[in-house]
Amino acid sequence: MKLLLIEDDQQLTSALQPLLRDAGYALEIADNGIDGEFLGNELQPDLIILDLGLPGKSGLDVLRSWRASGNRTPVLVLTARDAWHERVDGLKAGADDYLGKPFHTAELLARLEAIGRRQSGNASNELSWNGVRLDSERQQAHTPDGRVIDLTGIEFRLLRYLLQHPRDVHSKTRLSEHVYEEDLQRDSNVMEVYINRLRQYFGKDFIHTRRGQGYQLAAEQSG
Ligand code: CA
Repeated sequence: MKLLLIEDDQQLTSALQPLLRDAGYALEIADNGIDGEFLGNELQPDLIILDLGLPGKSGLDVLRSWRASGNRTPVLVLTARDAWHERVDGLKAGADDYLGKPFHTAELLARLEAIGRRQSGNASNELSWNGVRLDSERQQAHTPDGRVIDLTGIEFRLLRYLLQHPRDVHSKTRLSEHVYEEDLQRDSNVMEVYINRLRQYFGKDFIHTRRGQGYQLAAEQSG
Protein backbone atom coordinates (compact mmCIF):
# COMPACT_ATOMS: atom_id res chain seq x y z
CA MET A 1 0.00 0.00 0.00
CA LYS A 2 1.43 3.32 -1.05
CA LEU A 3 1.45 5.94 1.69
CA LEU A 4 2.30 9.61 1.19
CA LEU A 5 3.49 11.44 4.30
CA ILE A 6 3.38 15.24 4.06
CA GLU A 7 5.12 16.68 7.10
CA ASP A 8 7.72 19.44 7.54
CA ASP A 9 8.94 18.29 10.96
CA GLN A 10 12.08 16.38 9.97
CA GLN A 11 12.42 14.80 13.37
CA LEU A 12 8.92 13.38 13.23
CA THR A 13 9.41 12.19 9.67
CA SER A 14 12.64 10.38 10.58
CA ALA A 15 10.93 8.74 13.54
CA LEU A 16 7.90 7.63 11.51
CA GLN A 17 9.80 6.42 8.46
CA PRO A 18 11.06 3.06 9.81
CA LEU A 19 7.79 2.38 11.65
CA LEU A 20 5.64 2.94 8.59
CA ARG A 21 7.96 0.87 6.43
CA ASP A 22 7.97 -1.97 8.95
CA ALA A 23 4.19 -1.81 8.97
CA GLY A 24 4.32 -2.62 5.27
CA TYR A 25 3.69 0.75 3.66
CA ALA A 26 5.56 1.85 0.56
CA LEU A 27 6.38 5.32 1.82
CA GLU A 28 6.73 8.62 -0.06
CA ILE A 29 7.57 11.85 1.70
CA ALA A 30 7.02 15.55 1.01
CA ASP A 31 8.09 18.31 3.40
CA ASN A 32 5.96 21.18 2.09
CA GLY A 33 2.43 21.82 0.87
CA ILE A 34 3.27 22.49 -2.76
CA ASP A 35 5.21 19.27 -3.37
CA GLY A 36 2.72 17.41 -1.22
CA GLU A 37 -0.27 18.53 -3.26
CA PHE A 38 1.48 17.59 -6.48
CA LEU A 39 2.57 14.14 -5.24
CA GLY A 40 -0.89 13.44 -3.81
CA ASN A 41 -2.24 13.69 -7.33
CA GLU A 42 0.73 12.36 -9.27
CA LEU A 43 1.63 9.23 -7.26
CA GLN A 44 -1.97 8.10 -6.73
CA PRO A 45 -1.20 6.95 -3.19
CA ASP A 46 -3.60 4.67 -1.32
CA LEU A 47 -3.42 6.77 1.84
CA ILE A 48 -2.12 10.20 2.81
CA ILE A 49 -0.95 11.56 6.17
CA LEU A 50 -1.21 15.35 5.95
CA ASP A 51 0.18 17.77 8.49
CA LEU A 52 -1.94 20.94 8.56
CA GLY A 53 0.87 23.38 9.41
CA LEU A 54 3.05 23.24 6.30
CA PRO A 55 5.32 25.72 4.53
CA GLY A 56 4.40 26.68 0.96
CA LYS A 57 0.71 25.86 1.18
CA SER A 58 -1.28 24.97 4.25
CA GLY A 59 -2.51 21.42 4.73
CA LEU A 60 -6.12 22.64 4.68
CA ASP A 61 -5.66 24.38 1.33
CA VAL A 62 -3.94 21.30 -0.07
CA LEU A 63 -6.81 19.09 1.08
CA ARG A 64 -9.46 21.47 -0.27
CA SER A 65 -7.80 21.64 -3.64
CA TRP A 66 -7.53 17.82 -3.88
CA ARG A 67 -11.20 17.39 -3.02
CA ALA A 68 -12.27 20.18 -5.37
CA SER A 69 -10.45 18.46 -8.22
CA GLY A 70 -11.99 15.06 -7.44
CA ASN A 71 -9.02 13.46 -5.64
CA ARG A 72 -10.75 11.15 -3.14
CA THR A 73 -7.63 9.53 -1.63
CA PRO A 74 -8.19 8.83 2.10
CA VAL A 75 -6.45 11.49 4.19
CA LEU A 76 -5.53 11.47 7.87
CA VAL A 77 -4.69 14.99 9.05
CA LEU A 78 -2.21 15.74 11.83
CA THR A 79 -3.36 18.65 13.95
CA ALA A 80 -1.80 20.71 16.73
CA ARG A 81 -2.55 19.57 20.23
CA ASP A 82 -5.81 20.92 21.67
CA ALA A 83 -6.66 22.72 18.44
CA TRP A 84 -10.20 21.40 18.16
CA HIS A 85 -11.03 23.89 15.41
CA GLU A 86 -8.30 22.37 13.25
CA ARG A 87 -9.96 18.98 13.56
CA VAL A 88 -13.31 20.45 12.56
CA ASP A 89 -11.79 22.36 9.66
CA GLY A 90 -9.89 19.26 8.56
CA LEU A 91 -12.96 17.05 8.57
CA LYS A 92 -15.01 19.72 6.78
CA ALA A 93 -12.31 20.01 4.12
CA GLY A 94 -12.66 16.29 3.43
CA ALA A 95 -10.28 14.50 5.81
CA ASP A 96 -11.17 10.91 6.69
CA ASP A 97 -9.65 11.02 10.15
CA TYR A 98 -7.38 13.16 12.32
CA LEU A 99 -4.79 12.74 15.01
CA GLY A 100 -3.55 15.46 17.38
CA LYS A 101 0.16 15.91 18.04
CA PRO A 102 1.89 14.49 19.93
CA PHE A 103 0.49 11.04 19.32
CA HIS A 104 1.45 7.46 20.03
CA THR A 105 2.67 5.75 16.90
CA ALA A 106 0.56 2.70 17.75
CA GLU A 107 -2.53 4.89 17.45
CA LEU A 108 -1.39 6.28 14.13
CA LEU A 109 -0.84 2.75 12.76
CA ALA A 110 -4.23 1.59 14.06
CA ARG A 111 -6.00 4.56 12.48
CA LEU A 112 -4.26 3.99 9.15
CA GLU A 113 -5.28 0.33 9.22
CA ALA A 114 -8.87 1.35 9.98
CA ILE A 115 -8.97 3.86 7.12
CA GLY A 116 -7.54 1.22 4.78
CA ARG A 117 -10.22 -1.27 5.83
CA ARG A 118 -13.04 1.24 5.44
CA GLN A 119 -11.67 2.11 2.03
CA SER A 120 -11.83 -1.51 0.92
CA GLY A 121 -15.34 -1.81 2.37
CA ASN A 122 -14.16 -4.38 4.89
CA ALA A 123 -15.10 -3.56 8.45
CA SER A 124 -13.61 -6.65 10.03
CA ASN A 125 -10.15 -6.80 11.54
CA GLU A 126 -8.73 -9.06 8.90
CA LEU A 127 -8.63 -9.15 5.17
CA SER A 128 -9.62 -12.44 3.63
CA TRP A 129 -10.54 -13.95 0.29
CA ASN A 130 -11.43 -17.51 -0.65
CA GLY A 131 -10.27 -18.84 2.69
CA VAL A 132 -6.94 -17.00 2.73
CA ARG A 133 -6.74 -14.66 5.72
CA LEU A 134 -4.17 -11.92 6.24
CA ASP A 135 -3.05 -11.01 9.75
CA SER A 136 -1.65 -7.50 9.21
CA GLU A 137 -0.20 -7.17 12.67
CA ARG A 138 1.96 -10.28 12.37
CA GLN A 139 2.36 -10.04 8.60
CA GLN A 140 1.23 -13.64 8.35
CA ALA A 141 -1.19 -15.38 6.03
CA HIS A 142 -3.48 -18.22 7.07
CA THR A 143 -4.29 -20.74 4.35
CA PRO A 144 -7.65 -22.53 4.01
CA ASP A 145 -6.00 -25.79 5.15
CA GLY A 146 -4.70 -24.20 8.34
CA ARG A 147 -1.09 -23.36 7.51
CA VAL A 148 0.41 -20.10 8.77
CA ILE A 149 2.88 -18.39 6.45
CA ASP A 150 5.32 -15.66 7.47
CA LEU A 151 5.37 -13.20 4.60
CA THR A 152 8.30 -11.11 3.45
CA GLY A 153 7.71 -7.34 3.22
CA ILE A 154 6.94 -7.37 -0.48
CA GLU A 155 4.79 -10.52 -0.29
CA PHE A 156 2.81 -8.90 2.51
CA ARG A 157 2.26 -5.62 0.66
CA LEU A 158 1.33 -7.43 -2.53
CA LEU A 159 -1.15 -9.77 -0.84
CA ARG A 160 -2.68 -6.94 1.16
CA TYR A 161 -3.14 -4.83 -1.94
CA LEU A 162 -4.77 -7.71 -3.82
CA LEU A 163 -7.09 -8.49 -0.90
CA GLN A 164 -8.09 -4.85 -0.65
CA HIS A 165 -9.06 -4.80 -4.32
CA PRO A 166 -10.18 -8.38 -4.79
CA ARG A 167 -12.27 -7.85 -7.92
CA ASP A 168 -9.91 -5.62 -9.86
CA VAL A 169 -7.57 -6.63 -12.63
CA HIS A 170 -4.07 -5.30 -11.88
CA SER A 171 -1.31 -4.70 -14.39
CA LYS A 172 2.23 -5.54 -13.32
CA THR A 173 3.06 -1.85 -13.46
CA ARG A 174 0.21 -0.93 -11.17
CA LEU A 175 1.12 -3.65 -8.70
CA SER A 176 4.77 -2.69 -8.59
CA GLU A 177 3.80 0.97 -8.05
CA HIS A 178 1.80 0.04 -4.99
CA VAL A 179 4.21 -2.50 -3.57
CA TYR A 180 7.63 -0.90 -4.03
CA GLU A 181 9.04 2.32 -2.72
CA GLU A 182 9.60 5.15 -5.17
CA ASP A 183 13.23 5.31 -6.34
CA LEU A 184 13.97 1.71 -5.50
CA GLN A 185 14.46 -0.52 -8.49
CA ARG A 186 10.95 -1.03 -9.67
CA ASP A 187 11.12 -3.86 -12.17
CA SER A 188 7.57 -4.83 -12.97
CA ASN A 189 8.77 -8.18 -14.35
CA VAL A 190 9.82 -9.17 -10.86
CA MET A 191 6.14 -8.92 -9.91
CA GLU A 192 5.61 -12.22 -11.70
CA VAL A 193 8.02 -13.87 -9.26
CA TYR A 194 6.04 -12.61 -6.28
CA ILE A 195 2.70 -13.53 -7.83
CA ASN A 196 4.01 -17.06 -8.36
CA ARG A 197 5.20 -17.20 -4.79
CA LEU A 198 1.71 -16.33 -3.56
CA ARG A 199 0.37 -19.07 -5.86
CA GLN A 200 2.76 -21.55 -4.23
CA TYR A 201 1.35 -20.61 -0.85
CA PHE A 202 -2.33 -20.49 -1.69
CA GLY A 203 -2.73 -22.66 -4.77
CA LYS A 204 -2.15 -21.77 -8.41
CA ASP A 205 -5.81 -20.88 -8.95
CA PHE A 206 -5.83 -18.25 -6.21
CA ILE A 207 -4.59 -15.63 -8.69
CA HIS A 208 -5.56 -15.72 -12.34
CA THR A 209 -3.52 -14.27 -15.17
CA ARG A 210 -5.53 -12.10 -17.55
CA ARG A 211 -3.66 -12.22 -20.79
CA GLY A 212 -2.43 -8.78 -21.80
CA GLN A 213 -4.06 -7.15 -18.77
CA GLY A 214 -2.50 -8.48 -15.61
CA TYR A 215 -3.62 -10.39 -12.55
CA GLN A 216 -6.89 -10.88 -10.74
CA LEU A 217 -7.91 -12.90 -7.71
CA ALA A 218 -10.11 -15.87 -8.56
CA ALA A 219 -13.83 -15.17 -8.21
CA GLU A 220 -15.18 -15.52 -4.70
CA GLN A 221 -16.32 -19.04 -3.95
CA SER A 222 -19.42 -19.46 -1.87
CA GLY A 223 -19.12 -21.26 1.43
CA1 CA B 1 4.15 21.37 10.66
